Order: sequence, then C-alpha cells, then structure tokens
Amino acid sequence: MLNPFIQLTPPAQTMLVGLIALACLLLLSRGLLNLRGRAFTPWLSRLLSRLVRTRDYSEADFYAADGAPEHFIATRRAALDALQQTLSARGVKSSEWAGRVRGGLSDLRFTDASRVPFPFAKRMREGFNVASVAVASQGSRLLDLDGNWNIDVSGSYGVNVAGYDRYKEWMERGWQRVQALGPVLGPLHPIVADNIAMLKAISGLDEVSFHASGTEAVMAATRLVRFNTRRKLIVCFAGAYHGWWDGVQPGLGSERGIDDCLTLKDIDPASLAVIRRRAKEIAGVLVNPVQAFHPNSPPPNDAILLNSSVRKTDTNTSPYAEWLKKLRAVCTEAGVPLVFDEVFSGFRLAPGGAQDYFGVKADMVLYGKTVAGGMPIGVVCGSQGLMRRFDPAHPMRMAYVVGTFAAHPLAMGAMYEFLKWSLLPETTAVYRIANARTTDWVVASNQEFAAAGLPIAITCLGTIWTVQFTQPSRYNWLLQYYLRAQGINLSWVGTGRCMFNFDFSNEDYRDLTAKIRAAAAQMRNDKWWLSETEHPGRAKVIKQRVAKDLFASVFAPPRPLQAFYHEVMRRKHDDHVASHSHRLNQVLHLLSSSTFIFCYWLVFSDLVTAMWLGLGALFVRQFGHALVEPPCHDKEQLLLGFDTRSKTKVVGIYLLIPIVNCLAAPVLNAAAAPELIAAVARQWFGFTALVVFGHTLRLIPKHGFKNAMVWFVKLITDPLTDIKAYFPTLLRQRAGA
Ligand code: PLP
Repeated sequence: MLNPFIQLTPPAQTMLVGLIALACLLLLSRGLLNLRGRAFTPWLSRLLSRLVRTRDYSEADFYAADGAPEHFIATRRAALDALQQTLSARGVKSSEWAGRVRGGLSDLRFTDASRVPFPFAKRMREGFNVASVAVASQGSRLLDLDGNWNIDVSGSYGVNVAGYDRYKEWMERGWQRVQALGPVLGPLHPIVADNIAMLKAISGLDEVSFHASGTEAVMAATRLVRFNTRRKLIVCFAGAYHGWWDGVQPGLGSERGIDDCLTLKDIDPASLAVIRRRAKEIAGVLVNPVQAFHPNSPPPNDAILLNSSVRKTDTNTSPYAEWLKKLRAVCTEAGVPLVFDEVFSGFRLAPGGAQDYFGVKADMVLYGKTVAGGMPIGVVCGSQGLMRRFDPAHPMRMAYVVGTFAAHPLAMGAMYEFLKWSLLPETTAVYRIANARTTDWVVASNQEFAAAGLPIAITCLGTIWTVQFTQPSRYNWLLQYYLRAQGINLSWVGTGRCMFNFDFSNEDYRDLTAKIRAAAAQMRNDKWWLSETEHPGRAKVIKQRVAKDLFASVFAPPRPLQAFYHEVMRRKHDDHVASHSHRLNQVLHLLSSSTFIFCYWLVFSDLVTAMWLGLGALFVRQFGHALVEPPCHDKEQLLLGFDTRSKTKVVGIYLLIPIVNCLAAPVLNAAAAPELIAAVARQWFGFTALVVFGHTLRLIPKHGFKNAMVWFVKLITDPLTDIKAYFPTLLRQRAGA
C-alpha cells in the first residue's frame, strides 16, 4: 500500500513536532491573553437566563428566605401587610388607574417589580402597585394622581438635570421658535445650524448628526465607526448600558450571541492589552464614562467620598479619570477610535459632559436625554473621518444612517434653549455647586445613618447617587417600598440609581435624609434586617440559601409540573386542617404512614405480608378518624376523597373478603391456612387497585383529568408527607409539654 505522507528523517520529524508545539503555544498564549481581559458576565448572564427557571416562594419561604429564626416571621408578615395597606391608602386612584391599564396586560410595564428578586416578585406584584402616575411637577416634587407631592429622585431616567421648571420653560420657548414650521420634517429649521455650532463647540468635534433616541445614537455611532474603519469589532465594557439594542449589550437579557462585540473587563489593565493586541480588528471602543457606577455599586472614586470628608477638588486625578486617560492613550497608540457614550453623563456631570469632567477627549461623543431641553433626542458628534456616510472611492458603498424624527423642529427648538443655557458662564458654577452639595449631603447623611446604626450608606458621582447596603440581607430590595411609603419617587431601578436636579433646596436635602432614615429604621424594626445576635451566622446562612435557591431554580421542573405539585400540596394542607388536628389522630397517622412506607417497599418481594400489614395500618388510620375526628369526615369529600358512607362500604368489603374466603374454603385447617392467607392478600391487593383506580376514573368526568391525578398522587404520597407534617408538630408539642 502507498504511504500518502512524505517519509521524514528523524531530525526533520523532531523539527516538525517542535514547530507544531510552538504554533500551539503561540495560539494558546494569545487566547489566554485575550481571555484575561475578557468579561464573562455577558456569557454567564446569557447562560443563566436559559437555565434559571421561574420559581415563586411559598408564603412561608418568602418570610424566611434568610433562614431567620421563626419568631421573626410573624413580625415580618404583619409588617408587609401594614406596608401594603399604607401604600394602597396612598395610591387608591393610582391603583384604580393601573387596574384599568392592566386590563389586557400581564404587567403594567416591563419595569413593574423588576428590581425584586424573582422568587419574591409574585407576592409583591400581587400585593403592591408601584405604578407612579404623575400629573404635575414643581421644583423637586411630583404630584401623583392621589394628590401626594412626592420628592423625586428618579431624575426622569437622567433627563432632569436642571429642574423640571426650567425644562417646561425651554419646551415652551423652543416651541415658540419653531411653531411657524410645525411638524415639517425633511427641510431643516434654521435653528438646527445654531444647535450644530453649539454642539461642535461643546464636544470639540467636527460634525453632528441627530437621532430620535440615545439608543439610535449608539446604533448610528457603531455603524459609522465600522463603515469608516472597515473593521468589525466593537469593544465595550462589562456592566455598561448603551440602550436597549442587543448589538452592543451582550449581557442584559440579550439572547443573541454576537461575535462583533467584544466585552472586556472594566477598569482592568488586561483589557488595555487586548485592545492593543487586537487593534486591527477593532472599529471602536465604546465606553460609558460613568458605567463603573452601576446600580448598587459605588462609583470608582467612592473611597474619597465614603471614608473621609476630603472633597474632589481636581476630578482629573480620580482613579476613574486615570483609567479613562489610559484608555485614551492606548486607543491613540493603537489607532482605534474612542467613542464616549455620554447619553447619560453628557451635561450631567458638567456642562461639557464627561470629557470636561474627567479631562479626556474622545473621537466620537454621543449625547441624549437632557440635551434637547426635555424633548426626545440622540446626538452623535464625531471627527470628520468617522462621520462620513459615503465612501469617496466607492460611490455605491454607503452607511445608510437616517431616521424620520431626526432633527424634529420641536426637539431642535428646546435643544437651542438648553444649549444656550449650558453655555452661559454662570452655568458652570451651577453644576459645581450642585455636585458639591450632593457630596456634602452624602457625607452628612452617612454620618446620620451610621449614628443610628442603620445598615445603609450612600455614595455619589456628581449628582448621581446610589444606596449601598452594609450588611448581608435578602430583603434589601424592600427598602424601595419603604421609601415609596415615605413619599419618595424612585425610578424603576429602585435605590440602584438616584439623581438630584438643580431644583433641590437645602430643605429638600434635609427632608430626603429624614425620609430615608425613617424608611430604613422602619425596615429594621420590621425585622427585615437582623443583627448578628438576632440571627447568628446570618451571612453564611444567606449564602447557603442563595446557592440552594439558584440550584433549585436551575433544576426546577417545568411550570405545569410545579403548578401540579402546588395543587397536590395545597390539598394535603387542606386535608390536614380539615381532619387531622387531634394529637391522637396524628400519632395514629404517623404509625400507619410509617407502616405504609415499609409496605411500599415490601410489596415487590412479599405481597402477602405487605397487604396484611398495610390493611392493619389502614384500620388503625381510619380508627383514628372515627374515634377522635368523626365530624370532619365529610369535609374530605370536598377534597375529592371518600365520604364517610363510601369509606364504611370499602372497609366492609375489606372485612368481607377473608370471611367469604373462609366460608368458601373446602377445608379449614392449619395446613390450608397459608394458602388462604395468601389468597386473601391477593384479593385485597386487587380490591385496593380497583378502589384506587376506580375512584380516579370516576373523578375524571366530574372534576377533570388533572384533579383526578391530583387526588391519585396525593393519596399515594400521603404516607411520606404525613411524616413530614406530623413528626415535627408532635416533637414540638412534646417539647412544649
Ligand atoms: N446610552 C446610555 C449611556 C444610556 O444611559 C442610555 C439610556 O439610559 C442610552 C444609551 C439609551 O438612551 P435611550 O433610552 O434614549 O434610547
């Protein structure tokens, strides 16, 4: 046979093996280096989103999710009911309104109770209406449908920087400027040129394009950098939010696995190494300059704010500014465009946005939210080379980035007013004062919370702030409900991200501290936060519970099966309440159930003994009912079981079987006894099967297949659950006695 491979001499073979090993090593090291900078959170969150199934805590688990000692449960239950009543009383009209809107919808909005861990969500959705329905705004407050003026820290998703009253004015004046043109789209209102000039001055970039929202600005920017660099990869950082488009947020609930967006670790030198190494593939590095400030996580310079009263005098030296500067340097060195997504941070931290605040220049900057003076908008500013939509060398190659509502006259009018204001010399001071007041407020409030022993601390970045929890708990999310009861309007991320606007007065700040303090104190009194003495080892128990819950959610059976299980358990519970409350009856049930379990095992090897034992146990069981809880029998009929009359008939037939066998036996002597005993056992077995399956079949036309199965499964599993139900009760009664 011909050898298809060239015969190599031994030294050549060694060289070949060496070369292959070297290539593998190079590939491996490249892969490993890339891996070091790679964020796995998007991948993990996608994986978990597929694996983790919905689970709702039972009533008991809801209150004991942290394994709290039992005597706290009643307090918690009463507290939640009271909180529900308080919130319902505050929002009668809002609830009615929400009910009307809900009509055909399962949830009022996606965000309804979305900041509640899912096992708790059902109870909260059913019991609480957190829909905020507002009818007016003034200063730092919002008026809801029920006439309450709530203090507003939601910041309208970040739009409200300057205070609602200013936006109302800008919208009004903006409309006056463009109203002669009205809703005309296509031809541009002359005011657009002024806006472009102001945006160019603020961003320090050459060109501007308008879009309908922040998300669209992100989409436009990624398309433009790809088009103009002819590269495909967009780098973004873990934890960033860049709008709802799943092209740049491979985490955050996105199901789509994408290969043209690389998510790297935030504030990590390994990420810089990856950018350097893969520069030739990278179309742009997209960064949200305040992204490290995730909901519930502190801003990168929090150490300054939390640990001392030192103020930021030079923001350019904060750790996060240092990171952005390094990122800038690496992008410049690697020839990769740096894109700042300032949809949130632009005009929030400083009039010049994050570029101004952190002292870092980007090649492309995106604005949105507040920049149109209260109207919807998305803006992309970029260098000429990155903003081209046509390829001068290839006329048929173009980046088709357009949108009907881009440069809407009303948005342009209000934007003009806003930009004019932002460029006033005194506006810089307004920002500086608001940022400094927020810092002062954080320091003062934290001192108060610490003095009161409350497990919360606030951190901030500019006028953005978040509540951090300083002790382990499974109920921190409940604080948002307590805050609402105090009249604080939060955004859908709850206490995760809150904002001040320039309308907040000193009195508002003080009022807010008092409300947060009152809410937290109430939550502690209601025993949602327990001290180490109240709940020893709580941190460990909580970790174990969370792990157990995650495991149970991953391996949770499908929903219909869960519903079936809950139905069986509900009927068992009703059954226990209806006719198993007497102690003697419980003891007899324990006895008979243990015997049944033994018989389940025995029936496969020794049917005769199993049946005689089982029948004995059945009589003991029924004796308990007949003796101590006779009036309850008929309630069992409601549970689809047998009523007293049919039970008597069944018992009668069981008794008749041995009698008839004895009468029919040709001889009755000791030698014939084993045969007779076995025959009786077999007939009992047959009769049991007939009764059980017959009753199940009988239930189907009357109560449906599912209910029939519920009865069947309940019946055959009763011995197991009886032990779980009665053994601890009896033990407790004994201990009590
Ligand atoms: N980019 C950032 C940084 C954002 O914070 C947001 C919205 O919160 C967006 C983009 C999306 O903006 P929009 O909601 O207007 O689409």
